[in-house]
Amino acid sequence: MNDCLFCKIIAGEIPSQKVYETKDVFAFEDTNPVAPTHILIIPKQHLETMLELSEEHRELIGSIHIAANHIARIRGIAENGYRIVTNCGRDANQTVFHIHFHLIGGRPMEWPPG
Ligand code: 5GP
Ligand code: ZN
Repeated sequence: MNDCLFCKIIAGEIPSQKVYETKDVFAFEDTNPVAPTHILIIPKQHLETMLELSEEHRELIGSIHIAANHIARIRGIAENGYRIVTNCGRDANQTVFHIHFHLIGGRPMEWPPG
């Protein structure tokens, strides 16, 4: 049995505030936003970390970035800019082991990240 939090969100078993969906991508509001816009964009396919990606996922990862472009425009952050973050593994503080892309915007950000 798949006990993954984000797979349950995709399946509607755990509620979320859906922002966007395609046949292979799902996007929803982060429950603990770090900026005025903080949306998680995830593949519907369960992949634990970026390390699982291979050639067969090339189109899927493209779809995620095209979704990010679309969401940024409909949320009004495209012009001022935004950040996409994916944490992979322990040092990056990945806490949910289903690949996700944080789409963050709506305020100026600093660099380097913490
Ligand atoms: P990570 O630290 O793995 O890169 O990011 C996980 C993100 O998932 C965090 O920003 C956290 O706020 C978010 N998150 C954790 N649990 C839930 C949940 O049940 N629903 C939603 N919408 N976001 C969640
Ligand atoms: Zn999953």
